[in-house]
Amino acid sequence: MIQGIAASHGIAIAKAYQLVTPELTYEKKSIDDPNKETERLEKALATAKGELEKIREHTRKEMGDEHAEIFSAHLLILDDPEMINPIKDKIKSENVLAEAALEETTNMFVDMFKNMDNAYMQERAADIQDVTKRVLAHLLGVTVPNPALIDEEVIIIANDLTPSDTAQLNREFVRGFATDIGGRTSHSAIMARSLEIPAVVGTKEITGSVKQDDMVIIDGIEGNVIVNPTDGQIDEYKEKQATFERQKEEWAKLKGEPTITEDKEQVELAANIGTPDDVESVLTNGGEGIGLYRTEFLYMGKSQLPTEDEQFDAYKSVLEKMEDKPVVVRTLDIGGDKELSYLDLPDELNPFLGFRAIRFCLENEDVFRTQLRALLRASVYGNLKIMFPMVATLEEFRQAKGVLLDEKENLKDEGNSISDNIEIGIMVEIPSTAVIARQFAKEVDFFSIGTNDLIQYTMAADRMNERVSYLYQPYHPAILNLINTVIEAAHHEDKWVGMCGEMAGDSIAIPALLGLGLDEFSMSATSILPARTQIRGLSKEKMSSYKDKFLSMGTAEEVVEFVKEKTE
Ligand code: PEP
Ligand code: MG
Repeated sequence: MIQGIAASHGIAIAKAYQLVTPELTYEKKSIDDPNKETERLEKALATAKGELEKIREHTRKEMGDEHAEIFSAHLLILDDPEMINPIKDKIKSENVLAEAALEETTNMFVDMFKNMDNAYMQERAADIQDVTKRVLAHLLGVTVPNPALIDEEVIIIANDLTPSDTAQLNREFVRGFATDIGGRTSHSAIMARSLEIPAVVGTKEITGSVKQDDMVIIDGIEGNVIVNPTDGQIDEYKEKQATFERQKEEWAKLKGEPTITEDKEQVELAANIGTPDDVESVLTNGGEGIGLYRTEFLYMGKSQLPTEDEQFDAYKSVLEKMEDKPVVVRTLDIGGDKELSYLDLPDELNPFLGFRAIRFCLENEDVFRTQLRALLRASVYGNLKIMFPMVATLEEFRQAKGVLLDEKENLKDEGNSISDNIEIGIMVEIPSTAVIARQFAKEVDFFSIGTNDLIQYTMAADRMNERVSYLYQPYHPAILNLINTVIEAAHHEDKWVGMCGEMAGDSIAIPALLGLGLDEFSMSATSILPARTQIRGLSKEKMSSYKDKFLSMGTAEEVVEFVKEKTE
């Protein structure tokens, strides 16, 4: 049995699909027969094209035209004589292997495009790099995994899954996944929860321990993976799977019920989403609103930035489907583990502490304004609230709000109708902001505490690094005290506070958060019904009376013991 971190609940039993990028190395040597090399190149190009056409078709069917566009861009490159002829010429004139001619020629184009002062051309550089890898793999005879083409039930085994890999997974056939790296709050784990597939992350060794087509059991409840299980183990886990399904049926009985504590205090249970498609699961799981719409996914898995109209359609569709329920949309939070290859931003030593989120948006105002315009135009279709991610200073908030109000005026001047009741808030993810929440509370309409980042910054423990995942301690008194500061500050100014980090759906944290006075809990849709069941059995007054006690404790362990004892 391989132990990892339980990232998404449920049990899955299926064959393994290794999603590992192959080594693309070759020996540089001169060749005798340039015609033979050219033929090898032609063959690799044809195979790559066939494969890309299939992926494009599949993506178009599963995810729509927009997501398929990137593959059209890749196909265009393979059909471009200005790209392909120089590769062939190089084979003939320099007597080099097709691999070397391909790499050297495409590298030249990549460098040229990267250095152009034109975002469109810079985006093309990333496409060329991607396509080159695919053709090179075919020349070397190694298999490139194509997760979009999976057509039987599998469990994905990978070192890590980037959010865009996760977005491409076929929901119908991917039963679960296990990775070597990552923690409970890495974005692949978060997406697994919204796709409702079991996942175990941070196993350190899964890719080395599982072969393609091995039978695998993923236990996303305990965080275990079993490779090539015995018949007895398969029966045992099928039983566990059935128990989990029965438990889900119990929870489902509270779908349309309000979230009221034993002493009749109401809180709001909202959901976190990544795409408009996720709304369906929010509604079937009884979500009372959307506490976090991570808009980054609109920007990912594409070859260029989404247009204002594309974004408008997505926001409008979410607002309409949610009717008048609150929808908190977070502006672009790119960076950290969420990359946009087409922006071609330089690699950073500490991406989670780097040029990301609001920092990026304030420096790339055109990108920011496009998103704000789309949001403002969509505001008349529902109950929209906008929040900015990773705010570290009041100046950042003021500047971002200034841009938003400026676009609002521009749109009105252009004759658009915009809602006049859009609340503007911030994520509290950076300790500096939590510490001076009193000052922020005078200017924002609401806070949403992003504990995934707040914990990593407070504990100085990278959320992607499984070696320090023991420091992801939501119940640590330092974290609880920061949360308390934020809630008190907001309530002092009659503002509301939500939490959209994973901690909001954590059954040990919930009683403590209720005691601290949190107003809105936003979580993966599948956590809503278990959370509602739990909250209906708790007394807010009783939990508040323990507040001073757990805030003054020394360790997370003491807090856990205490909460468990008081809620038994
Ligand atoms: C957070 O940091 O808690 C959060 C909700 O944002 P994300 O997980 O997208 O960084
Ligand atoms: Mg965050």
